[in-house]
Amino acid sequence: MSGRYALFGHPVAHSQSPRIQRAFATQTGIDCAYELIDAPPAAFPAALQEFFAHGGRGANITLPHKETACQLADQLSDRARAAGAVNTLRREPDGRLLGDNTDGIGLVRDLTANNNIKLVGARILICGAGGAARGILPVLLAENPAQLVLANRTHARARELARQFTGCTAQEYAALRGQTFDLVLNATSASLRAELPALPAGIVAAGGCTYDLAYRDTPTVFQQWSKANGARLALAGWGMLVEQAAESFWLWHGVRPATHALLEPVSK
Ligand code: NAP
Repeated sequence: MSGRYALFGHPVAHSQSPRIQRAFATQTGIDCAYELIDAPPAAFPAALQEFFAHGGRGANITLPHKETACQLADQLSDRARAAGAVNTLRREPDGRLLGDNTDGIGLVRDLTANNNIKLVGARILICGAGGAARGILPVLLAENPAQLVLANRTHARARELARQFTGCTAQEYAALRGQTFDLVLNATSASLRAELPALPAGIVAAGGCTYDLAYRDTPTVFQQWSKANGARLALAGWGMLVEQAAESFWLWHGVRPATHALLEPVSK
């Protein structure tokens, strides 16, 4: 047995991560357990400590604990430090906890390797300035886009995020009218309530693509909006979820699982 692994969040019952991690374990022949641990914020630090004291080798962290996990980790990868958020923890042989953030690389792999979207020299717009936007921003900037713009309902949050990263700017949604982008990313949680960020029509460049970090069994409202607004590809975040999980698996087990068999089931 290669140890215990778990996803911590609140809530977590809906998560597809156990199904993905178990598929990777079966594929690679690695014998490990992956469980769901629902911990409200006040109970999270103690639950994490208990888990690692009783055979826990690695954990995924989701809402609302990513920032707290960043504070609890003993050491951070560069990308976790840049994001200020941790979605993967690994217990080192000396008991210290390494914190990493695999969300950004998961998104970039899904865009580039799975969907052949070029990021170098692209004009990219990110809607949203929450935890997901913060996680993907440094990794997207490292791909050398021509332009990276942040827009958020609460403009001050986008401005503050842009201030922390060289190479991006913040603009209000209304100020985007007349501009076009090769890639429009929806990193808001609006899709979860079937709402849309306040994007002007004509924002997707000819041949451009969109990506909703949220995903559903059927196309999200943002995917529907994207198709109606001329996007060549209107993708959703299932592929990102699978790819960030593969990166976590690699970090824990030193083996990179193939992802293609898992990429199809949810709507694109
Ligand atoms: P978060 O920290 O709560 O941030 C939510 C963001 O959405 C904020 O910028 C908020 O704007 C904006 N927002 C919420 N409702 C909106 C609306 N009706 N119109 C416009 N903007 C709205 O959440 P998060 O952790 O960043 O997650 C964002 C999304 O990414 C979620 O759908 C999550 O499921 C998804 N996600 C997917 C993956 C994956 O692997 N596929 C990984 C991580 C996250 P204000 O600042 O104005 O409130």
